Amino acid sequence: MRMTETYPQTGTGSAPGSADVVLELQALQKSYGAAKILAGVDFQIRRGEFVCVVGPSGSGKTTLLKCMAGLLEPSGGQTVFEGAPVTEPPAKLAVVFQDYSRSLLPWMTVWANVELPMRNKFGKAERPARIESVLEAVGLAGKGSLYPWQMSGGMQQRAAIARGLAYQPDVLLMDEPFAAVDAQTRIELEDLVLRVRAEFDTTVVFVTHDIDEAVYLGDRVIVLSGAPTTVSRNLAVDLPAPRNQVRTKSLPEYARLRAEVFELIQSAKSHATIR
Ligand code: ADP
Ligand code: MG
Repeated sequence: MRMTETYPQTGTGSAPGSADVVLELQALQKSYGAAKILAGVDFQIRRGEFVCVVGPSGSGKTTLLKCMAGLLEPSGGQTVFEGAPVTEPPAKLAVVFQDYSRSLLPWMTVWANVELPMRNKFGKAERPARIESVLEAVGLAGKGSLYPWQMSGGMQQRAAIARGLAYQPDVLLMDEPFAAVDAQTRIELEDLVLRVRAEFDTTVVFVTHDIDEAVYLGDRVIVLSGAPTTVSRNLAVDLPAPRNQVRTKSLPEYARLRAEVFELIQSAKSHATIR
């Protein structure tokens, strides 16, 4: 099911633990030594939502995502995933990282890379059809026998997305997944992610420093302040679906949201601790 209703900015409408909240950050804090990066981050993700988390470079987006994924222990507060505090990487959560060149195993074909995390969840008989369907969805039909080093950056990132989807996670976390590809590929991959999200009905948390990307993709945009980081705004994005690179970006509401996020980020940068 697609969530289209607006999201309460203050969290009063959707009580913690309500049935459709799949992921909740509660006063999440993280310091590296004496450097406080996350100073208490709170938000909720509801099932079916596509939520973009946007903040300046160095604001702690990767740190936040790793805490959400159970890859990093927070210094305070917690993440609750499907009702249970996250203390290790949850089986029903998948992550797509920025650096595709390090996330795919170079000695395995695309097919084997996609199949690897599926082994714990799907029987041998049901894997091939599912792998074929995700490879087709990301535009890699017939490319399963290639090795990562035989593919362009854009194709490698498609393969990483396919791997995340094949596993059928309840939530897909993506950390600036398109930051390292060229502009044209980036546009294609943005639309690809919107399509496969609709097709596979996945809840997505998409972290980016790119304001346009956040507003274009999100049902909601969570704007982070600069480090020490908190949530500076939780914005419902009321733009019609399906999104379209030309039509959506020429809407007055798109320009208004973009300007609002831009100003919040500028002010976050000017208040952030310089590191
Ligand atoms: P973002 O993803 O928003 O660019 P990061 O979460 O990568 O931000 O980093 C936030 C801040 O924390 C940066 O100042 C970075 O240098 C610092 N940092 C990140 N990881 C570590 C680490 N393992 N040890 C010490 N400092 C770190
Ligand atoms: Mg980062």
